[in-house]
This record gives sequence, structure tokens and C-alpha cells, in this order.
Amino acid sequence: MAKRYGMVIDLKRCIACDACTMACRQAKATSRGILFARIFKYERGTYPYAKMSCLPVLCMHCAEPPCREVCPTGATKRREDGIVVVDSEKCIGCKHCIIACPYGARNAFRGETDYFEGQKTPFEVEKEREHLPGTAEKCDFCVERLQEGRMPACVEACVGDARIFGDLNDKESEASKLIAKRGGFQLNPELGTDPSVYYLPDD
Ligand code: SF4
Repeated sequence: MAKRYGMVIDLKRCIACDACTMACRQAKATSRGILFARIFKYERGTYPYAKMSCLPVLCMHCAEPPCREVCPTGATKRREDGIVVVDSEKCIGCKHCIIACPYGARNAFRGETDYFEGQKTPFEVEKEREHLPGTAEKCDFCVERLQEGRMPACVEACVGDARIFGDLNDKESEASKLIAKRGGFQLNPELGTDPSVYYLPDD
């Protein structure tokens, strides 16, 4: 069976420190203010029993991705290993995919890679070459790192080991075992997108 790369995020272990957010931004040199990995923080319950919870989000690498369906040039593809990628050379910047994605996972590259406005570091200048202005961009599970046998930047940076990356089609992978054991769930399964990102409940 072909691989299906996916990620499990343990909401019990996530402390919402945003290490993943920053590691992703550094690895991908996204435009200023655009983040491929984000963490929503919210309150549950009522005082004095309220509890702070969080929801880390990224591209869900859907098995049935609406972003691919609306792409007029075939720039968005789902690879054989399940990773949804964008071919910048084919992208015409129509932004249909940005609207179609129900998870808000896509953005257009605006060309502002400087963290401090107007002052680019040599690293930022180097990383800027990896982008084509105006094209759609999103998390790609750090495919370049996977090729080197490494983990996605957010997984490497997670201080709580809350992110587990692996093959969801392999029942023996740690990711698959955790989903089965802890009742892993997808976001908005009713949409029929079949996300490859699963969450483990925090209670
Ligand atoms: Fe496409 Fe959005 Fe699904 Fe990612 S989360 S594969 S961008 S529809």
C-alpha cells in the first residue's frame, strides 16, 4: 500500500508556546504576517473552572482536497505519499484555492520576507529565492527535509513532543497507533475532505 504521510497533534501535550509557528516561519521564510503553522488559543468552561485550550493548525493534506479541484492549471497536486503540494511554476496566482480551502491553510506570497521591516538578513535574502511572488503557498510537510531523512520543522521544534509525523497507512506507525489508542479525530470530517492531520483529545 502507498504511504499516506500525516501528522498527529496531541492536544494534551501542546502548551501553545508557538515554537512550531516560529520554526515553520524560519524554515519556509513566509511573507511577513503569514504563517503556515498557527495556534488558536481559546477558553473553555466558565470561571472559576475555565480552562485555556489551544488548537494548532496547518494544511490538513486532505485526501480529497478542494484546493486541487478548483486549480485551473494543475499546480496543486496530491503526491503518491499523500502530501499536497503546489508547483509555483504552474501557479498563476488566481487565488481560487485560497478561497476553496475550508481550513484557511493557504496564502499568496507577498514578497515580504523581512522579519524587521526594510532590513533583510542574509538568510532572508537567500530564502526569498525559493518563492515566486503572487503564487499560492502553504505547508508542504517540509518535503525538502523529508528527502534528507529529517522531520518537518514544526515537529523538530516542538518542545512538548506534541507532534508525531508518520505514515497513516502503516498500522504499526506511532501516528496510527496513537490515533487508534487515543481516539484521534479530524477537523470538520463532515466536509468530506478526509484530512491527514489528526488530533488527540486533551481530556
Ligand atoms: Fe488543500 Fe486546504 Fe486541504 Fe491543505 S487543508 S489540502 S490547502 S483544502
